[in-house]
Amino acid sequence: MSGPAAPHVLDDPFGFARAAGMQQGQLAVSAMPRLQDQLAEDTGEVQYSVRGGLDQLDRPQLELEVTGALKLLCAQCAKPLDHALVLRTRVLMAPPGVVPVNDEDPDSPEWIEAGQELNLQELVEDEILLGLPLSVRHAEGHCSSESQEAFGKKAADSPFARLATLLEPGQTNKR
Ligand SMILES: [Zn+2]
Repeated sequence: MSGPAAPHVLDDPFGFARAAGMQQGQLAVSAMPRLQDQLAEDTGEVQYSVRGGLDQLDRPQLELEVTGALKLLCAQCAKPLDHALVLRTRVLMAPPGVVPVNDEDPDSPEWIEAGQELNLQELVEDEILLGLPLSVRHAEGHCSSESQEAFGKKAADSPFARLATLLEPGQTNKR
């Protein structure tokens, strides 16, 4: 690890919420280990801002906003896919062990545990992971190399398939 120690930490998150504090930062995409499985490339940064406050029931909360550009993997063609990350979410905070297991309020946001300090890097990564679509893929018809790759496999399997490409050269160009 290099750089200043733990810059993405919120000291006294409950005081931060009561004081309606505001903190901003920037995180390297490569610094979020659990995100890596979803990524085609780990370049770039995400910007986050966190705003403390109290909800209608006077419970301490954090409003989190995360933006950035991620390079995800397309589930269809396994090629990089640009994903504009725009995340706005709200979490309620409780000390460890006090988080309600069964919050009856259907409108209640997510609960997180917060102690003396809160690791914003983990929170941001958690929320990005929660907010990602289950399966990302290029828009219909935008997996550019898809047909060629499928064809390439067939061609390798059979000499007759290769002959077919010669006979139907226009097939992959239809709009
Ligand atoms: Zn694709």
